[in-house]
Amino acid sequence: MRLVLLGAPGCGKGTQGQLLAEQYKIPEISTGDLLRKAVAAGTPLGKAAKAVMDAGKLVSDEIVMGVIRERMQQPDARQGFILDGFPRNLAQAEQLDELFEELGRPIDLAVLIEVEVDSILQRLLGRRTCVSCGASYNMFYAPPRMDDSCDVCGGRLKRRSDDNEETIGNRLRIYETQTLPVVERYREQGRLRVIQGSGEIQDVFRALSKAVEEVRATLGSRDRSAAIRRAVARKQNTAADGSAAKAGGSGKTTKKAVAAPAAGKKAVAKKAGAKKKTQVKKKTASKKKTVSRKKAVTKKTVTGKKVAKKKAVTKKVSAKKVAKKKAVTKKKAAAKKAPVKKKTVSRKKVAKKTTKKKAAKKRPARKR
Ligand code: AMP
Repeated sequence: MRLVLLGAPGCGKGTQGQLLAEQYKIPEISTGDLLRKAVAAGTPLGKAAKAVMDAGKLVSDEIVMGVIRERMQQPDARQGFILDGFPRNLAQAEQLDELFEELGRPIDLAVLIEVEVDSILQRLLGRRTCVSCGASYNMFYAPPRMDDSCDVCGGRLKRRSDDNEETIGNRLRIYETQTLPVVERYREQGRLRVIQGSGEIQDVFRALSKAVEEVRATLGSRDRSAAIRRAVARKQNTAADGSAAKAGGSGKTTKKAVAAPAAGKKAVAKKAGAKKKTQVKKKTASKKKTVSRKKAVTKKTVTGKKVAKKKAVTKKVSAKKVAKKKAVTKKKAAAKKAPVKKKTVSRKKVAKKTTKKKAAKKRPARKR
């Protein structure tokens, strides 16, 4: 479960985050706590952050991203986490999305805990925490039995240095101008739930757990299918490794390497190195083979296309030739017919001429 808790300072993110962490056995990661630890330890990061925190302003995105990146990569955060006080502005929200993409773990849910400003002031101004065991009190509605000491361990109660009126004013202004756009971002992405944060801690927690459970129910099937996909990919990888090991004999080498005495280790390592080289060579060779096969396929396709084109052209040409031949034959046939006609005409003409000649021959005879 990967959760983001949002809300104005003093809305109860820390308290509710810790309850959720206990319930789901995942860490609550508070950037405010991480920065306060750095300040207390006097690290360079803490020294750079202190003045900014005391003024109620936001520590630089660069510092906060560094802190959060390192914390989220620790083993206890593998199964999920609850982010408290982060992201605080749009730039952080965008970088967080990128980081989640890198880690392959998107946010499942963002919950906004809404509380009225009057209650916020009372909560922050009355807040006290035990320096020894971390138990928290409120001087207005949950005071300790003795003013400055813890009911649980007798430790000293402390007020946070940024829980004063002036700083609280700054923190609220920053929340409205810089953090509310983050709330809107999650709302637009359809990942936001809103719960009411006024009232008893356990009532708020009930509402929060309900929202989380509803989302977890839908995530269940998504996580299961993701797990199946991962398992299939693992199996495929193992199969691929297995065949590579068979080809290169690396499996045997590993076994030998484990059993080998110190003196023989070098030789085994050398052998393993040589086998690795062979494997790499084989891989390269198979790659080359694939490439050349691809090329051959391309060539085949191209040649096929060329042949088809050639055939089409030849067909066209031969069709033209046939047509031409036909035309010539027709013409010849016509030509053959034509002299017959001519002959007929000329015969007729000859006949006419002969008749005329005969007539002419006859006419002078008559004159004489
Ligand atoms: P918080 O404990 O969440 O109220 O944070 C206390 C102070 O730590 C804030 O007023 C900021 O100065 C600083 N801080 C905590 N989280 C962030 C953050 N995500 N980005 C910048 N500054 C932060």
